[in-house]
Amino acid sequence: MEALAWLVPLILVVAIFVVGVRALLSSRRSGEPLICTTCGAQTDMPQSKTRGSFAIEIVLWLAFVIPGLLYSLWRQSTRQKVCPSCGNATLIVANTPDGRKRAARFSEGKS
Ligand SMILES: [Zn+2]
Repeated sequence: MEALAWLVPLILVVAIFVVGVRALLSSRRSGEPLICTTCGAQTDMPQSKTRGSFAIEIVLWLAFVIPGLLYSLWRQSTRQKVCPSCGNATLIVANTPDGRKRAARFSEGKS
């Protein structure tokens, strides 16, 4: 059971790291109104989708610490804001000339 002696602190470090990076990235959330260029839905609470898999992350961390670290960083940095209506990562800030143009086009299309 000696192998477990270093495994437990390692898992703790991984957990703290992943939670820490996630908190850091989510605190950068803009809170700006966004518009989806695919379906025209407007939201200021986009859903976020993380690429890759949590299981692979754990396996990489347990087998090789450095690739695990890189994989965690890649996953967190490639998180996308996705439209809560259609699930596409095509959200743009609504309060821009382009965003307003698209909002107007979608509201015309509906009426
Ligand atoms: Zn959409």
